[in-house]
This record gives sequence, C-alpha cells and structure tokens, in this order.
Amino acid sequence: MRTEREEELEEAWRKLVKRLEAGGIIRSEAVREAFLRYPRYLFVEERYRDYAHVDEPLPIPAGQTVSAPHMVAIMLELAGLRKGMNVLEVGTGSGWNASLIAHIVRTDVYTVERIPELVEFARRNLERAGVENVHVVPGDGTLGFPPKAPYDRIIVTAGAPEIPEPLIEQLKVGGKLIIPVGRHHVWQELLEVVKLEDGSTKVKKHGGVAFVPLIGRYGWPGQ
Ligand code: SAM
Repeated sequence: MRTEREEELEEAWRKLVKRLEAGGIIRSEAVREAFLRYPRYLFVEERYRDYAHVDEPLPIPAGQTVSAPHMVAIMLELAGLRKGMNVLEVGTGSGWNASLIAHIVRTDVYTVERIPELVEFARRNLERAGVENVHVVPGDGTLGFPPKAPYDRIIVTAGAPEIPEPLIEQLKVGGKLIIPVGRHHVWQELLEVVKLEDGSTKVKKHGGVAFVPLIGRYGWPGQ
C-alpha cells in the first residue's frame, strides 16, 4: 500500500514530466518512460524528497548535486540512447541518471564515481529503487573504464576543463560523448562529441551549463 505522501510525490513528479514534455525538453517516449519509472525523489535524501519535482539541482552528500531534471533530460535526448547500447556514465552522484540510462538501454551500465561516500549513497539508492543493471565503479572517471570499452555513448555529468583523451579513445567509431566543458570552474558549454572513422572528432555546442567540477587526472586538479 502506498502512503498519501508517496502519492503526493508521484503526482508532483508526473506534473513535472508533463511540463518538460510540453516545453519540448522531453522529446522521446524512451526518456519519458524512464523519467516516469525512476522519479528523482527515489535518489535524494529524505529531507529533499519534497523538492525532487522542482526543476533545479538538489544537494546530495559530500557537497555535490543531482542535476536539475531538465538538464538530465536534455543530455539524455542529445545522447540518443537505444536499446542494447553500451554506455558509460562519469559522475554517479545519486545514481539517478545512471538508472534512467539503464532503463532505456536495458543492458548493464557502468558509472564511475570518485567520492567513496557517494559510491555508497548511489548503491543504496539503486538497491532501494530496485535497479539491477547499474554498476557503480569507484575511481577517476576521466580515465574512463577500459574493461567495458568501447562504448556507444559516454555521458559525463561534471564539468571538465577540456575533453579527456581517454574518453575519446574508449568511444566506438560513430560513438558519442556528451560532456560539459569550460575553462571556468563552474560554467561550461555542453558538447556533443562524435568520434569519426579516422579517430578525430566532430564537436557540436549546445549552450551554457553549470556543473560541479570534474576532478581527476584529465580533469581539474583536486584531492
Ligand atoms: N549523475 C549524477 C546523478 O544522477 O545524481 C549527478 C552528478 S554530480 C552533478 C557530479 C558527480 O561527478 C559528483 O558526484 C562528483 O563527485 C563526480 N565526479 C567529479 N569528478 C569525477 C571523476 N573524475 N570521476 C568520477 N566522478 C567524478
């Protein structure tokens, strides 16, 4: 039996999904279905659940954030995910975006997180939400995750100073990397990077975004 509160949370979430559809942000049935299957309130701490339907980033442990729903939808639509694709996410955070990806591709998804506290947080969220095909890998995601490469898609959910070379190396030819890149710590441009046959890339810019920094060997310096 669902409680009254759960029904309220779900109702508020459904309204947000409708707004994102009406605004042309959610454009595909695949993304719509994933959003309805895994509402953001399943991936935040109890005290933030009532705000999960507000279209803004929310705090998660270790001073990080789970992105605003519209930003997650934009990145998923840009990625053009299809069933069976091999996808890597960099920046697990709460595990929400990885769950949406996994729901669309219906195969195992690997997601790398550098902060151990968030590795645990995401794993708890995934278990509670009943997600079985997301695997959280602790470590520096700027190095990619070679054991499961090459990837059809790589989605980076933290802001990089430049495109990390290992991520291009681990893309299939024709594969796509979605990544916020900018020389400023908290402001980036959202890039869609396609790997071409000769190993070079074609880059399309999709406007300004604001993500927490991608910290690592091919990212910003940090501990
Ligand atoms: N995708 C997440 C979600 O659905 O909740 C939100 C990601 S949050 C905006 C960015 C995350 O990237 C943070 O959890 C941060 O610790 C992580 N991060 C930053 N640099 C990283 C790196 N080099 N490797 C892996 N994770 C990194």
